[in-house]
Amino acid sequence: VKASVMEGENEEDMFDESSDGFREKERVQKLQDERKTLPIYRFREDLLKAIHDHQVLIIVGETGSGKTTQITQYLHEAGYTKRGKIGCTQPRRVAAMSVASRVSKEMGVKLGNEVGYSIRFEDNTSEKTVIKYMTDGMLLREFLGEPDLASYSVLMVDEAHERTISTDVLFGLVKDIARFRSDLKLIISSASLDANKFSDYFDGAPIFRIPGRRFPIEIHYTKAPEADYMDAAIVTILQIHLTQPPGDILVFLTGQEEIEAAEELLRQRTRGMGTKIAELIICPIFANLPLELQNNIFEPTPKGARKVVLATNIAETSLTIDGISYVIDPGFCKMKSYSPRTGMESLLVTPVSKASALQRAGRSGRTGPGKCFRLYTAFNYQNDLEENTVPEIQRTNISNVVLTLKCLGIDDLMAFDFMDPPPAETLLKALELLYSLNALNSVGQLTKTGRRMAEFPLDPMLSKMIVASEKYKCSEEIISIAAMLSAGNLVFYRPKEKKVHADAAKMNFHTGNVGDHIALLKVYSSWEEHNYSTQWCFENFVQVKTMKQARDIRDQLKGLLERVEIELSSSFNDVESIKKAITSGFFPHFALLQRTGAYRTGRNPQTAHIHPSSGLAYVLPKCVIYHELVLTTKEYMRQITEVKPEWLVEIAPHYYQLKDLQDAVVKKRPRVKHT
Ligand code: ADP
Ligand code: MG
Repeated sequence: VKASVMEGENEEDMFDESSDGFREKERVQKLQDERKTLPIYRFREDLLKAIHDHQVLIIVGETGSGKTTQITQYLHEAGYTKRGKIGCTQPRRVAAMSVASRVSKEMGVKLGNEVGYSIRFEDNTSEKTVIKYMTDGMLLREFLGEPDLASYSVLMVDEAHERTISTDVLFGLVKDIARFRSDLKLIISSASLDANKFSDYFDGAPIFRIPGRRFPIEIHYTKAPEADYMDAAIVTILQIHLTQPPGDILVFLTGQEEIEAAEELLRQRTRGMGTKIAELIICPIFANLPLELQNNIFEPTPKGARKVVLATNIAETSLTIDGISYVIDPGFCKMKSYSPRTGMESLLVTPVSKASALQRAGRSGRTGPGKCFRLYTAFNYQNDLEENTVPEIQRTNISNVVLTLKCLGIDDLMAFDFMDPPPAETLLKALELLYSLNALNSVGQLTKTGRRMAEFPLDPMLSKMIVASEKYKCSEEIISIAAMLSAGNLVFYRPKEKKVHADAAKMNFHTGNVGDHIALLKVYSSWEEHNYSTQWCFENFVQVKTMKQARDIRDQLKGLLERVEIELSSSFNDVESIKKAITSGFFPHFALLQRTGAYRTGRNPQTAHIHPSSGLAYVLPKCVIYHELVLTTKEYMRQITEVKPEWLVEIAPHYYQLKDLQDAVVKKRPRVKHT
């Protein structure tokens, strides 16, 4: 037998291939059958007719009815892709990836071929791609290269109810191009029932409603407010697991750190319970989770086991996981908030709106009766929660969007057709920032620097830092820093049993109190020197995942440097030049040490502290710039570099006067408390 296998190697290959091919066909057939069970399927013909008859159509349907995965395929099957691509936007990158992956499986094609996705720093599409899922931010950027989006025959702005800033700006832009491209079909789809606002905005476009199936959902509240919602969530998960009939659990947490902590806690507590309890499969899902791991959450739960999905807001409407019978809703999410007065943006854990709470509860009743456990009181729900989430454009810094719009030639932003306009003060602040970064001139026109900055899919201060690296001849170092800053906050990790080692490893990169930016650069360069070794990451308590992401981002930034004709140059030993380039972008984020040991930030002063994770947390330099501000227990500045007040004046003379800075810098240093 062995010999014949050897001899018949080719045959066996063929046999394998055809059997694989057979199984593949079977799989696709099964998925094709599943497609027909979705609520949207009954409306396929009506839907296609409505799209045929109207240029703009608003589609409303409950989450899970099949809007995102099916409509694009229906259009493809009906021949729309003969005239151009179908683009479908998602507010979240995970959703774009996951949905594209699902649709490629349903169609039996390889992801990246006919069906692909494009998210910031990752383009998984090809010449062949006809159904393209992408983040709303990416489509916004596509306008820069193709202002009439001529390569598309259909645009579907999905998850419109999320009202992200990019989606809101897209509304204005697609509405405009639809006027002169009568061949373009526009679909605005949403999970919220209040679609009239969308219809009004799109000149009375018709609304197509897809009734979902719905089972009754029991809602439970806590009797008293919970002091610690994480703990309450863990206890509730275990209670459900031990006492309730089969059915998976979905828990809404606020972010990656919280999800990972919850995972750890759950593992500890279930370990203590031994083998007497049924298996509990823990599935985390958040924005930075790699695609391979994301797919785990969709795996059917084996008999006798129970799945618990720990998710961010992503599972509220963007992703649908079958088999969920229990939802645990602590009632919080992470939300951006912005103060135009101080120009400061922070990411805050905030109570959700009633609309969100409703969507969350709805996730439990899709395949059978469900239960939702709200970890707050009925009184809280009635009296403390807002009706709806405020659209992002009204609570965020819009300088990035303003720069993009300026690049598209939209000069009068006050006249732009916003569904809900940003506050005038926010717009003014954005223009002011872009002016001080020299992206706009004094009459608000785009400068050459501004045009170059817009090529980078980054916030204007980061883009400016990169563009400025040309002058300081350190573009190699600056793109490493920009990549590290963009790759996420989790660079180092600190296992409980090895805290001392981890801290020592981390401090290695901070030798000489170089500051966090330079430390990040050192991390990246050392990793590079060690041939991107995973072992090196383990030895230095550095997150491999973050580093790989940073490398991808850096590669792309390098490509973009070429596009804006900035040469690669290096001045590794000239730390001052590197710091000056950073300062060129971040000078508006300066902070001065006060007698109290706290800092006063910006031109509209506010008190802030150096984040404990910073290498300078106990050094307290007099004058620093910071990457971002986060509000947790206090207002913290994250990623700090010490700068000289003279640099600020040299780099941004229009912004600072030395005298003001010198007056403000503390004369006598406070005593540093070590903890
Ligand atoms: P909608 O956009 O209306 O919320 P979707 O088109 O996203 O609905 O989802 C329809 C169905 O497709 C879901 O109920 C789910 O069963 C299935 N589905 C979607 N994405 C995936 C995925 N990545 N893996 C497995 N099933 C999925
Ligand atoms: Mg959807």
